[in-house]
Amino acid sequence: MLEIHEITINRILNPTSIDLGEYVINPYMGCEFSCLYCYVRSNKVVRKREKPWGTYVDVRKNSPDLLEKEVLEKKPKIVLLGSTTECFQPIEKEYQLTGKLLEILNRYKVFYVILTRSPYIVDSIPLLNQGFCKRIYFTVNNFSHTLKQVLEPKSPSFPSRSNAVRILLDEGLSVIPYFSPVIPWLTDIKEAFSAFEKAERIEFEHLNFNFKNTQEIINSISLAQPVLKEKFTSMICERVFYEQIWKELDEEIERQAKGVKKGYKIYKHSFGEYFKNTYL
Ligand code: SF4
Repeated sequence: MLEIHEITINRILNPTSIDLGEYVINPYMGCEFSCLYCYVRSNKVVRKREKPWGTYVDVRKNSPDLLEKEVLEKKPKIVLLGSTTECFQPIEKEYQLTGKLLEILNRYKVFYVILTRSPYIVDSIPLLNQGFCKRIYFTVNNFSHTLKQVLEPKSPSFPSRSNAVRILLDEGLSVIPYFSPVIPWLTDIKEAFSAFEKAERIEFEHLNFNFKNTQEIINSISLAQPVLKEKFTSMICERVFYEQIWKELDEEIERQAKGVKKGYKIYKHSFGEYFKNTYL
């Protein structure tokens, strides 16, 4: 059962080290989609909450009022929406916070980049089409339905997400299909390159084996694919094996990209390097 809390916050434009915007905007804290590999789960503040990630959403009700004021004070040129939440999760239909924020950003001519995996974003096309949506990174994937059920049972289906990407691309918006997490032996790289004809490039992010709940992720993948348990366990224990597997996968990405003459980018996570996410 999802707990929804309406709260007020002190600030909506938060400085960030992410190079996609000068500030991040997160109108919600928490996420209905509850992906097991979500990096926000490892955040200190989230780990201190009594309820597990995915079972609550704080609705930051005063976000639009704050943005109206902060835009005038901070004069941002570009901001990033959705660094630690899903701005277009189902409760957005009721609260319309993201919609209000986009209206304000459009009105003040502030450019924005959006991170999402929700097809509900297509409802906002009239707002996105006003010239200030710089780019949308849309997380997609293509591993099996069985695996999706253990890793992200509550997120929208992969076909619905791919379809939303194509609708946004048809609108002429800049959309990057973002395959994340790429899982060795399970993500179909060839299919990734054939699915989005109009995309200028495809981006990939390796599965991060450095989260606090990595063992839980491996156990879950092993439920769906028992034969892979040993391989994944070796990946977290043996640097050489870890690096070899990702090297082979990256070569496969390069090969497939060349075959279809499509650009690509890969985000990697070093062996044993814990991902630091300190800000909500
Ligand atoms: S949709 Fe994004 S924010 Fe929500 S749980 Fe999944 S990875 Fe985390």
